[in-house]
Amino acid sequence: LIEIGTPERSVVTTCAYCGVGCTFRAEMRGEQLVRMVPWKDGKANRGHSCVKGRFAWGYAQHEERITRPMIRASIDQPWQEVSWEQAFAHAASELKRIQAKYGQRSIGGITSSRCTNEETFLVQKLIRAGFGNNNVDTCARVCHSPTGYGLKTTFGTSAGTQDFDSVEHTDVMLVIGANPTDAHPVFGSRMKKRLREGAKLIVIDPRRTDLVRSPHIEAAHHLPLRPGTNVAVLTAMAHVVVTEGLADEAFIRERCDWDEYRDWAEFVSHERNSPETLAPVTLVDPAELRAAARLYATGGNGAIYYGLGVTEHSQGSSTVMAIANLAMATGNIGRPGVGVNPLRGQNNVQGACDMGSFPHELSGYRHISDGATRALFEQDWGVDLDPEPGLRIPNMLDAAVDGSFKAIYIQGEDILQSDPDTRHVSAGLAAMECVIVQDLFLNETANYAHIFLPGSTFLEKDGTFTNAERRIQPVRKVMTPLNGYADWEVTQELARAMGLDWNYAHPGEIMDEIARLTPSFAGVNFRRLDEAGSLQWPVNEAAPQGTPTMHIDGFVRGKGKFVVTDYVPTDEKTGPRFPLLLTTGRILSHYNVGAQTRRTANTAWHPEDRLEIHPVDAEDRGLKDGEWVRLASRSGETTLRALITDRVAPGVVYTTFHHPATQANVVTTDFSDWATNCPEYKVTAVQVTPSNGP
Ligand code: SF4
Repeated sequence: LIEIGTPERSVVTTCAYCGVGCTFRAEMRGEQLVRMVPWKDGKANRGHSCVKGRFAWGYAQHEERITRPMIRASIDQPWQEVSWEQAFAHAASELKRIQAKYGQRSIGGITSSRCTNEETFLVQKLIRAGFGNNNVDTCARVCHSPTGYGLKTTFGTSAGTQDFDSVEHTDVMLVIGANPTDAHPVFGSRMKKRLREGAKLIVIDPRRTDLVRSPHIEAAHHLPLRPGTNVAVLTAMAHVVVTEGLADEAFIRERCDWDEYRDWAEFVSHERNSPETLAPVTLVDPAELRAAARLYATGGNGAIYYGLGVTEHSQGSSTVMAIANLAMATGNIGRPGVGVNPLRGQNNVQGACDMGSFPHELSGYRHISDGATRALFEQDWGVDLDPEPGLRIPNMLDAAVDGSFKAIYIQGEDILQSDPDTRHVSAGLAAMECVIVQDLFLNETANYAHIFLPGSTFLEKDGTFTNAERRIQPVRKVMTPLNGYADWEVTQELARAMGLDWNYAHPGEIMDEIARLTPSFAGVNFRRLDEAGSLQWPVNEAAPQGTPTMHIDGFVRGKGKFVVTDYVPTDEKTGPRFPLLLTTGRILSHYNVGAQTRRTANTAWHPEDRLEIHPVDAEDRGLKDGEWVRLASRSGETTLRALITDRVAPGVVYTTFHHPATQANVVTTDFSDWATNCPEYKVTAVQVTPSNGP
């Protein structure tokens, strides 16, 4: 039993783990956090929480937190602690020196989806206004960038269409490439509640997730597809909808471009896209697929929920558009209970994207090449902006290896552990003359850093996060930053050291600037957020109270756009050397690369990553449950213990990636989404053999 004592004060704030965005009351004694209590009035959680938000906060005051800035001349030198003033002056002088020598576009930066909207906005502003280029990117590059591309193309805005309450009006849930009970637990519980009330469930996933079968819940249809064939499965479902006369033609005629629909309908109707023809590709039973398509099209309000099992593919953007096509074809858009709902992974990945973290877009998803938008920012910021889109993360790393990209400022992102092709990432970082890492701990990326700026946790700052339902929620300072600065203050001081005249006294002033420059945030300010508890964007003159459901009277882009999404097999092929397909995911007690949750008691629940393998494949290889195995791909190899289970189909293996020892990204491929470069983490051809251990 832990003696927690009596709290002296409490502060209501927002969880910093997943995109559900639960509200908590942080109970404090002095500067000690004693417990996190889920807040009954939280709009996203209504008093509920999961084990991460409730218990995994010990990392905030962990002894491994770095609290003093550090510099070193080269990465083989020991770190040397310096004052903040020395660190800012050194970082600014290095960035300026490199730009003078190699050109304005030789430097860039990465924003953090763990940080607040205000902090993210400042980092991209520093890069655009201070560095004078658009070399800014964010971790959405490796998770939901296809969502941004796909939903903007089809609907006109890069976000989910519904609020979480919408699920209470849903009759049929189609869950594809998502494992909400582990990755979005509080919303996963809400989905289960609706299913227990009688809603029907379709799961498209190579693995039998908890949602497929759990107490009192049985999916009406589970389509255990071959990894990498999402587009083929969705096209086959569309084939059934169109050829069996189940399309909602009245909705399509009124709300969508009819000519584009006709082209798309002709494409999906072709015999080569029937469930039977595609079955050898998808490995899905055609009768089951037909039944699932009929249920989604005719079972009442149909809502699609998806996760990284959709986006992290070479056809990630095509899959998002195939989902949008299916929703429009069946009229499942624009009212409560329906819609297309990306389950965003990180607490503020929606916000980071909204705030202009992509190299081609300013805040509110407006293209940098648009002169009128650029002029608005130029007038406000008093600088000329580069009209050319900048480099994405993989392109920054390529340019570093080629010698034209020399310095990077990374806030709250461990790209060495989380990005694909670890060897390429390390080669890119090693080739740079100045790597500035701002983080809580000396992470793997910091091994390549020359300047380390201590970061701050969500408990040490004011600001806002935006969750998966576009809900902007307050983050409130609970304790004094261990390092003396919140992350937004560190960015501000770096900007000042580079000569920018920034004088924000509080994140509320940054939000005022965001609202001034971003039409979808025009009605947002800290006072209104305090009064309302939260606001869902767009919040503006047309929607002063915010927007729980989007596209009610029309799509943001005008007419909904059908896009032909032909299935293209991945270049990642199985063969005699690598006969199995590896796919990856998360577990309830841990979060992403585990930097926070591994520094809490949660590790007791899941001390290592395991490789799930089907009993038939295990027997073929002479593997025993719990024994070490070697997992090898064309990219590399690693060692972990086997977990023999029929949750995965024969031919498929699965692991989580929460522990650095697993090094899952040493194994994954360097193929990526054709439109956004989102890596194809979910499909890697591998071999599994017995091993004596690491
Ligand atoms: Fe935090 Fe997500 Fe768990 Fe809610 S569901 S407590 S936001 S990790």
